[in-house]
Amino acid sequence: MSATAHERIGTDMRVIAVEEHISTEDFLSTAHAVDVLPGDEVEMDLMRTVESDPGLRGRLTDLDARLRDMDALGQDMAILSLNPPGVQPFPSSDAVPLARRFNDALAEIVRRHPGRFGGLGTVAPQDPVAAATEIERVMGPLGLNGIMINSHTGGRYLDEPEFAPLLAAAEANRAPIYLHPRAPSMLAAYRDYGMPGAIWGYQAEAGLHAMRLILSGTLDRFPGLTIVLGHLGEGIPYWLRRIDNRHAFAARTAGAATPMPKLSLTPSEYFRRNMVITTSGIDDPDVLELALRAVGADAIMFAIDYPYEDPAAALAFLRDAPLTDAQRTAIAHRTAERVFGIGQAERGENRHIH
Ligand code: MN
Repeated sequence: MSATAHERIGTDMRVIAVEEHISTEDFLSTAHAVDVLPGDEVEMDLMRTVESDPGLRGRLTDLDARLRDMDALGQDMAILSLNPPGVQPFPSSDAVPLARRFNDALAEIVRRHPGRFGGLGTVAPQDPVAAATEIERVMGPLGLNGIMINSHTGGRYLDEPEFAPLLAAAEANRAPIYLHPRAPSMLAAYRDYGMPGAIWGYQAEAGLHAMRLILSGTLDRFPGLTIVLGHLGEGIPYWLRRIDNRHAFAARTAGAATPMPKLSLTPSEYFRRNMVITTSGIDDPDVLELALRAVGADAIMFAIDYPYEDPAAALAFLRDAPLTDAQRTAIAHRTAERVFGIGQAERGENRHIH
């Protein structure tokens, strides 16, 4: 990395971005030919349009160009993941082999670029047992850093009993689950004004999913899970105190029609124990300050959301946000190294000398 690049970030600090999407020409040509599950047509129409745009398609697939961007901005490493919504809109007979094939390609990319790329594997929750097997492969022979799941699958959520094998495999294999947004399962009221996407529907959907994991008792059954949420926690830090307060009230007043699982912790205690959040798409120092008060820098990771957000703006935010040195170091790389198991051997010491 050049001295100029370090001046751009204004420090000698290592920078890892953790929500960085890719695709492959192989995946796109195969996935765009597959039938879509009922209910997912709106989202897939949008994603096929996005992925067919020459500029965006190039930014998803051209890793040499991405490395040049990273070098120019002083970004050391990107944790790569398949462009959302991954394989989840497809029948499992297509989704399971598509996930395996993509993960093989991702592992090869990571192997070829030690210290520059890590990877989050893709799984097909449509088949929770196959997903569990794939998590073992992702965290074992493929040597990746975790998995990404794009919220609901056919309107089903990970707290539902059918997904227990998937969650058990994630816990046993220490695979952090990046719970990435997608268009809401209850699409009707979001369908207008562009709202299914990142403007509102994404965070509403991912926040709902995280709240289901907390309130269902899933995190009592799988206490070792790590759930990663983008967008500085999908709105939940703003609500934490009220969620605790209203959860206590709802638990006292719950009737037979709305049973409340008995939890061993308060909702905010699960949020602080099991969830880690990233800065993807929220370059707002006021929201970051709230997140720091809610969870602390050891639970916050830097992310750009490439190719959908401007990497230069995200890096400038990381550089300029009002943080202590310890907070900036944690957000820039240290939390990601802990959460994703990025060790000394992967730090690319032979690439450049700080
Ligand atoms: Mn994203």
